[in-house]
Amino acid sequence: MFLNKNNSRKLKDCLVLIVDDQASSRLVLETLIEDIAKVVGVASGEEALAFCDQHTPDLILLDVVMPGLDGHKTAQKLKADPEKSHIPFMFVTATVTDEEQSRCWNSGCVDFVEKPVNSCTLRNRVKSQLTHKLKNDLLEKLIYLDRLTGAYNRHYLEDFLPRLVKEGDRNDTPLSLVLFDIDLFKQFNDHYGHLEGDDCLWRVSKALKTALQRPMDKLVRIGGEEFLVLLPNTDLAGATDVAQRLLHVIYELNLPHEQSPMSRVTISGGVATRLPKRDILIDTVLKQADSNLYKAKSQGRNRVVSHTNDA
Ligand code: GH3
Ligand code: MG
Ligand code: MG
Repeated sequence: MFLNKNNSRKLKDCLVLIVDDQASSRLVLETLIEDIAKVVGVASGEEALAFCDQHTPDLILLDVVMPGLDGHKTAQKLKADPEKSHIPFMFVTATVTDEEQSRCWNSGCVDFVEKPVNSCTLRNRVKSQLTHKLKNDLLEKLIYLDRLTGAYNRHYLEDFLPRLVKEGDRNDTPLSLVLFDIDLFKQFNDHYGHLEGDDCLWRVSKALKTALQRPMDKLVRIGGEEFLVLLPNTDLAGATDVAQRLLHVIYELNLPHEQSPMSRVTISGGVATRLPKRDILIDTVLKQADSNLYKAKSQGRNRVVSHTNDA
């Protein structure tokens, strides 16, 4: 079956974060599931959030009663952060009144287990959640990633761009877009062949992805040799800096292109920024990025043009 592809992740590759203020409880949970997946334990909600700034667990086992941020407050903070809101968490709770159970579900947990834990039930619930997560991740990859370059595809853009716009309005932050296009790529294909062309697309995409520094910055392949970079919470000046840096990264790759006046593969970029709550359609901003890209091409290629009007 297609979900069992050789290159897919296994349960053993998954990471489970255990959050419990009592060392003895952490040890019990860790010992119970350490043969299923990788396990890390932390002693508070605060430490859990700090851990998730650096890593992305596939599942969190979250104690409810803890000093400082308790389980429910930790869950609220996870849900409120767009970079963490997708991480599944399961409560481990000693209180199982009807009221507490509905509180747990309302917090957005995927499940909960009762303390003291039944080892067989805990192990099976963890396995079941991780299996579900792996299938979801794989489906997202199949739906949202471009097979040739590993960048996101148009489906991703259609689904996520409206969310980014909403988030920008809610948080009062600008959203910038940079539209890149490989220069003289038709000549590249004609000279080196289509397979070399595909390889070039892969290399350019990999270099652009690697050069993006913030986890929320995304690279989307929107057409043949056209890439869109999504930069949430970034103003025009910031986006122009990023675009210049990416331009330089591709220049420094130094991929030979005999048909180009630069003798190497280069890109051109158009930048545009949508300020929050200005009632300007995202399509208008995309058109601005496109028209700036056109200017970059007509001004000689291997350059970035930024939109400067108040859009
Ligand atoms: P400009 O600098 O103005 O962008 O010129 P260009 O030659 O890059 O632009 P043009 O739009 O004329 O040509 C784009 C080329 O990209 C033509 C097409 O064969 C090639 N291309 C599009 N998709 C793919 C792909 O998936 N693989 C390969 N190898 N080539 C592709
Ligand atoms: Mg081109
Ligand atoms: Mg093109």
